[in-house]
Amino acid sequence: MITCRKTYHDVPFGHRQPFHDGHCSFIHGHNWSITVTFACTERDVNGFVVDYGKLGFLKDWINDNLDHACVFHKDDPLLDQLVNAAPEAWKVYVVDDCSNEGLAIHVYEVFNALVREHTGGRVWVAQVEIEEDSKNAATYAPPAKQ
Ligand SMILES: [Zn+2]
Repeated sequence: MITCRKTYHDVPFGHRQPFHDGHCSFIHGHNWSITVTFACTERDVNGFVVDYGKLGFLKDWINDNLDHACVFHKDDPLLDQLVNAAPEAWKVYVVDDCSNEGLAIHVYEVFNALVREHTGGRVWVAQVEIEEDSKNAATYAPPAKQ
């Protein structure tokens, strides 16, 4: 296996931790960075794992779903109340878990499927790291196959 990685820096979006007992339960934002590690066993004709110039589909997904969005936990008890109060004020994205760790898992699942689709299965995502404001980071890599 050989890998390469790409980072999407400073993607602004908000979230809140609805079940946190401290200030993380308030809606707030970060500038997030998403680092994707790509893997393959057979490189392309140029010797690349992936052609960085042909990853626009990942940037498009980030722009469409996360950039300037508010990411909500699917079980947030205030989700409907907040969004329905002023629907035009939100770009809403709902995930199973909007913690840094949950976002790493979610982005991994989305990106792995997109990368496999766009490369005919030659390339997969080995790992996703999500950074909050360059201070905190979470990394997800799927368990090795048993
Ligand atoms: Zn936060």
